[in-house]
Amino acid sequence: MSRQIDLVRDWVAKSTRIVALTGAGISTESGVPDFRGPQGVWTTNPKAEKLSNIHYYMSDPEVRRLAWRQRLEHPAWRALPNDGHLALAALERDGKLHALITQNIDGLHQKAGNSSDKVIEVHGTVHQYVCMICGARGAMMDVLDRVRAGEDDPPCRDCGGILKSATISFGQQLVPEVIERAMRAADEADLLLAIGSTLQVYPVAGVVPRAKAGAARIVIINAQPTSFDRIADAVIQQRIGEVLPAIVGLPPI
Ligand SMILES: [Zn+2]
Repeated sequence: MSRQIDLVRDWVAKSTRIVALTGAGISTESGVPDFRGPQGVWTTNPKAEKLSNIHYYMSDPEVRRLAWRQRLEHPAWRALPNDGHLALAALERDGKLHALITQNIDGLHQKAGNSSDKVIEVHGTVHQYVCMICGARGAMMDVLDRVRAGEDDPPCRDCGGILKSATISFGQQLVPEVIERAMRAADEADLLLAIGSTLQVYPVAGVVPRAKAGAARIVIINAQPTSFDRIADAVIQQRIGEVLPAIVGLPPI
């Protein structure tokens, strides 16, 4: 095991308000493809991007019908948390996890055992639907049952409005209260673990300098270099499912 990992394990042991920020890299290790990143499904396939663009979605029923068919097959339904997710759940059980900010929409952190009140989903979640007119929300599975039963673009049962997964689509604003909560958590952190994110998407990437300004140690775990490596106290470029169990002190599997 590398000296870097020993060092970070020591920091984790001494920290009491750890904030983790997770990106696509932790989910790809569970077989959920990267949608937004530089090599992402949306980025490299403009047609797929169109399906997740809010303007096309709201104006074109054909786009919505396609989107619902794709939601039936979303990889999140079958994906299982990996050792990286489980290590973050262990941090919470140890009482060390202050917040878990995630750019992922797959719900794998909750599936791994992190509680919903620790997880800040800055890009929303595919496990819920939202009505674009009246704001009604509920379990995505209920709407997918309607799609399976033959409704190809199921309307809101309260108001007849357009339904969508409760994720942030292209062209849609982030939710200011959610971003504010993430930034507040960064201010209060004593250790920030930035995991599997290229840290290129703002304002979420701003969590890193905010935590640094608040005197947190910064650890970046990502396969590629990031633009914040120079302000990090440690940079680890190894598989997340190996690194995280080692730094939280879980026995190797
Ligand atoms: Zn509605």
